[in-house]
Amino acid sequence: MGRMKNVAIVLAAGRGSRMHSEIAKQYLLIKGRPVIWYALSAFERCPFIDEVVLVTGADEIEYCRTEIVEKYGFRKERQIVAGGKERYHSVYRGILAAGDCDYLYIHDGARPFVTQEILERARDAVCADRACVVGMPVKDTIKLSDGEGFCAETPDRSRVWQIQTPQVFEGALIRRAYESLMETLERGTALHVTDDAMVVEAMTETRVRLVPGDYRNIKITTPEDLCLAELFAQEECS
Ligand code: C5P
Repeated sequence: MGRMKNVAIVLAAGRGSRMHSEIAKQYLLIKGRPVIWYALSAFERCPFIDEVVLVTGADEIEYCRTEIVEKYGFRKERQIVAGGKERYHSVYRGILAAGDCDYLYIHDGARPFVTQEILERARDAVCADRACVVGMPVKDTIKLSDGEGFCAETPDRSRVWQIQTPQVFEGALIRRAYESLMETLERGTALHVTDDAMVVEAMTETRVRLVPGDYRNIKITTPEDLCLAELFAQEECS
């Protein structure tokens, strides 16, 4: 049997409306480098990742090729493809572009601080359990609202995790799950899909393992996240 093929899909096709910026958040700068550089560089350094599929806006493909991949000399980016309207459309395009592979690492390009340790823990988990998501136990108490601004429920905090990326799956499993999702959505079923584990949970019998990530593995969403990111990047350099 040949060596395993591991492909990373890095998502950068979001508009980032919560950032209130003209520039999509994945191209804003942290310590002089685009947000997306950090995730791409983590996968570039990771010895067990073979290829990276970068998913971006249709209008940004050329920019990504020249100003990111070529400029910084990334070598694992085999394809830069256009994403879709929702995150799950972008993921599906990435899965199709990745083709046959043993494991797929799906990562938000807006999470710059994924570490080699996180990638190693995710690899070990997916090899054992076929599907895993990185996350951390919540620090705050979480309430579910009743939809009218009042508390409806308080889940047991010790069992509530906030989910990060990467989310890692056997290639054939995640492809099958996304194909079922697309068929379900085409039939008109409403599903609010916000992560990839949800798709596996809803469409397959496979249980998804929770893997500890890092509280620094934040997603750049609002302007204050950029301040934190500057701080984290500063510490990494010092
Ligand atoms: O919108 P959200 O912050 O959840 O996006 C998470 C990641 O998914 C970001 O890296 C964003 O660029 C990506 N995304 C995408 N295509 C979309 C929406 C989001 O690639 N249609």
